[in-house]
Amino acid sequence: MAGVAGFSYIGLSTQKLPDILNIRAKSKGLVFRFRPFELELRHVFTIATSSRKTTPVMLTEIEYDGVTGYGEASMPPYLGESHATAGAFLSKVDLSQFNNPFLMEEILDYVEQIEPGNYAAKASVDIALHDLTGKLMKQPWFRIWGLNPEKTPFTSFTIGIDKPDVVIKKVEEASPYRILKVKLGQNNDKEMIETIRSVSKTPLCVDINQGWKDRKMALDMIFWLKEQGVVFVEQPMPKTMVDDIAWLTQNSPLPVIADESVQTFNDVKKVVGVYSGINIKLMKCGGMRSDFKMVNTARALNMKVMIGCMTETSCAVSAAAQLSPMVDWADLDGNLLISNDIYDGVTVEGGKLILPERPGIGIVKKGK
Ligand code: MG
Repeated sequence: MAGVAGFSYIGLSTQKLPDILNIRAKSKGLVFRFRPFELELRHVFTIATSSRKTTPVMLTEIEYDGVTGYGEASMPPYLGESHATAGAFLSKVDLSQFNNPFLMEEILDYVEQIEPGNYAAKASVDIALHDLTGKLMKQPWFRIWGLNPEKTPFTSFTIGIDKPDVVIKKVEEASPYRILKVKLGQNNDKEMIETIRSVSKTPLCVDINQGWKDRKMALDMIFWLKEQGVVFVEQPMPKTMVDDIAWLTQNSPLPVIADESVQTFNDVKKVVGVYSGINIKLMKCGGMRSDFKMVNTARALNMKVMIGCMTETSCAVSAAAQLSPMVDWADLDGNLLISNDIYDGVTVEGGKLILPERPGIGIVKKGK
């Protein structure tokens, strides 16, 4: 009845079916490549816990049927990954066993279980696979996800902790942006804000990077920051001080956003009632598949969402930007902070993210 009878009804012999359904018979497996690269930063970048001039990244490619998808792992030292760890992890990734790139769940589940951690390295495979499948479908991922490219948010431009003359120069460079992200958490917070306010009225958000240790002082500072035109506060206190952060969020006149406190999908439910929202990043959670799940979960829990990045090329930044029509705030300036980007991708016009009308994650190699 069903089975053989059904096949004969639609006019297909059982012998022909494997040719239609099994791409394995037509093509060799996926080809995976990676190489280390060093990003040069335009300015020495200082946050509450560190300073640096370069960022190591791993550039990846997945090739199938003459089409290549690009990916990237960005590894600022405080996250614990490096060229050595990513190289060791990616050497274990054998994609030649997969003959169909559209089996994304199976492929990414396989990558996930190779070893725990290694989230940036995993993201570099995830991004390349999304780029590849989008190119094979000839569509950008924002369209595959059903998102409106006109609804991208303004992106913030980051001002690191620095001396007043350097801060003023950076603020002037950032004049096209409609929101500035200011790194605070050392001992010159008010000086940083007052310096910026001496030359700019642009709305600000602040990222403390766990730098404040006293909740009462933190709350006083947030009330002061609100008067200075700050719109939200990111990771004000150490992630271990859960009760203090919950108290701060409850009493804060501004939304309090989790960054270091939320790494992967499983962390989202842990911060309900502790923060007003979460900052998602491809390099923290392992890529676009996880970020998409995190946005939807946070929305279901009535939380705000911002999407951030590391210092990255336009590859990872453009991958993150595909999701940006779903979020409240974007902080996708990592490609603008480096001087040796090798891709063209998402751009910023009047402070707003512009998603390129290109398939996959929307990038091309510079000069091609
Ligand atoms: Mg942050």
